[in-house]
Amino acid sequence: MKRSDFLRLCFAASVTPSLARASATETPASETSATGALTEGNSAPRKLVLIAGPPSHPPLMHEFRAGTILLEKRLQSVPGLVVDRHELGWVKDEDTLDDADAVVCFSDGNGRHPVLAGEGRLAKMEGLAGNGVGFGCMHFAVEVPKDKAGSEFRKMIGGCYEHEWSCNPIWNAKFEDLPEHPITRGVKPFSITDEWYFNMRFTEGFSAEAPREVNGVRFTPVLVATPTDETRDGPYVYPKGPYPHIKAAKGRKEAVMWAVERPDGGRGFGFTGGHFHKNWQSDAFRKVILNALCWIAKVEVPAEGINSAPVDDSEIAQNLDDKRPRKKSKK
Ligand SMILES: [Zn+2]
Repeated sequence: MKRSDFLRLCFAASVTPSLARASATETPASETSATGALTEGNSAPRKLVLIAGPPSHPPLMHEFRAGTILLEKRLQSVPGLVVDRHELGWVKDEDTLDDADAVVCFSDGNGRHPVLAGEGRLAKMEGLAGNGVGFGCMHFAVEVPKDKAGSEFRKMIGGCYEHEWSCNPIWNAKFEDLPEHPITRGVKPFSITDEWYFNMRFTEGFSAEAPREVNGVRFTPVLVATPTDETRDGPYVYPKGPYPHIKAAKGRKEAVMWAVERPDGGRGFGFTGGHFHKNWQSDAFRKVILNALCWIAKVEVPAEGINSAPVDDSEIAQNLDDKRPRKKSKK
């Protein structure tokens, strides 16, 4: 029996691991599928490993730790989901990944990306994804160096931010048409200002236009908005641009959140917002991510989506990283 199946038994039996170990030895359980994947509706808990990046940026921006704490708190009441949250850019012990159903990074990206900032991590994540483990990336974590991990990320999550191909202006995105997808359950049209990156480097054939299947990967554009001409004209946060190819696409819709279902049975998503910590006060914004964190781990999202307690000003001020205010913001 795989360790992951053993741990699921422990949870299902609601007993301590030591007791479960004894009973599992006496009564061997039937094995799950080769991937260990259980379908939605199964009562065995699913494990989401949620990784917050180290401090970055001025206060109330890129508050990865505080953001993951408030999300974790709101997922505690979701039946069938266990959240294993980590800070400072990686898991404390890589063994915890071995029975994960999904891994989600809310962190800086590029060379500081959790799965790139240490030897062997990308291969580890690829191995997990190949076994059907979900992978999600939030905000800067959608960006990786194109020659180091671009194709790997496209394979795992369908697309990524590519330096000087994608751009990162701060703009008000209006999400008027939400597709039918578990991530949008209970979400009504909304608009919010964020550093919504767009013009992702998607797998060839994927775009904001419509869901599409390429080589067995099902892609759904989840949050789609049309940047204004002024947004495309820049400046962007970093580098300031503007880029001719971004200006030339005026009027085009852009997917700033997308989801994929891979042939290995795993799921992936990318979400380009999350720059401003205060955005967690938006019920719709928060619900989209709470839904996505359930969906990526194959926990059934209820028809009304994951309802959660509002985030008031006092909670927004909690758990912030210890950072000195800086004059200039970089991406
Ligand atoms: Zn940012």
